[in-house]
Amino acid sequence: MSLGWKWFVEYQTPHSAHMHGIKRTLHSRRTKLQQIDIVETHEYGRMLVLDGKVQSTVRDEYIYHESLVHPVMFAHLNPRDVLIIGGGEGGTLREVLRHPGVRRAVMVDIDAGVIESSKKYMPELSAGAFEDKRTELVIEDGRKYVEDCGRKFDVIIMDVTDPLEDRPGQLLYTREFYEAAHNILRENGILVTQATSTYYSTYCFATIYRTIGKVFGKAGGYHVWVPAYDSMWGFAYGTKGPDPKEMQVERLGKEIKKKGVKGLRYYSGEIHGSLFTLPKEVVKSMKEKGEIATDSKPTFMPI
Ligand code: SAM
Repeated sequence: MSLGWKWFVEYQTPHSAHMHGIKRTLHSRRTKLQQIDIVETHEYGRMLVLDGKVQSTVRDEYIYHESLVHPVMFAHLNPRDVLIIGGGEGGTLREVLRHPGVRRAVMVDIDAGVIESSKKYMPELSAGAFEDKRTELVIEDGRKYVEDCGRKFDVIIMDVTDPLEDRPGQLLYTREFYEAAHNILRENGILVTQATSTYYSTYCFATIYRTIGKVFGKAGGYHVWVPAYDSMWGFAYGTKGPDPKEMQVERLGKEIKKKGVKGLRYYSGEIHGSLFTLPKEVVKSMKEKGEIATDSKPTFMPI
């Protein structure tokens, strides 16, 4: 039955997909690295799509960005210098800068085109974060930056496109990358990364978690339902210090107030608890599935 508008179909696996009704295409361009499309959808408002994969939508992006950023930012007792790899639309940067204690947020994205297009067509995602005096924006491959920067950080947040073959993010989910990141984290430092769907790409999620664990020793995972991804979306972290999983939910409510973090729309003490409450099958897959991803044998999502 045709409902009189176009459909954008995003595949989670070769046999499962999510359809988004599109009102119109606002912007389409191909950079040297990826295809950028910004479309107006019926359900989620404006949507950023890179190489056919949904990145962020105006309606629900805060769920993903708050879940990626705040568990590690509150677990670390005093995150002053934060490194963001990827995050082109600026939502991750916006959330990091909510923490008044942050003195420097370095954001390294490989493609200036994503930042330009997002600022123009989805400005509410960065909400002025690129103009914040604490922001330092670098256009470079995140892998190269981490290996060459010679700087130290308290928190590293990986908000890179999915691990897909021959795509720009593929070597940012490997043991060699995490070793380089581990070297530029200060004592008590924490790294967190988006780690694909805990439902549709369980093996890939478990591999990312195990690879981080191999390098950091102490690692964990959590997930959140992201409507536009039509899936539980996983995050994995490695820590040299406090473990986000062990934070007292009650303390967190007070901590959010004490630290002066304002404007949260999703994250709270109770939500923190729900993020880390994993179903048995996910816990089991973290223990039993997956392998150690390396540069010579990276991990990939099914599609
Ligand atoms: N929230 C999205 C997700 O979970 O899939 C990702 C958001 S953001 C749009 C992904 C960013 O990663 C893009 O801006 C892309 O340019 C950037 N990126 C991909 N490969 C990269 C690399 N090797 N170094 C730095 N940034 C990279």
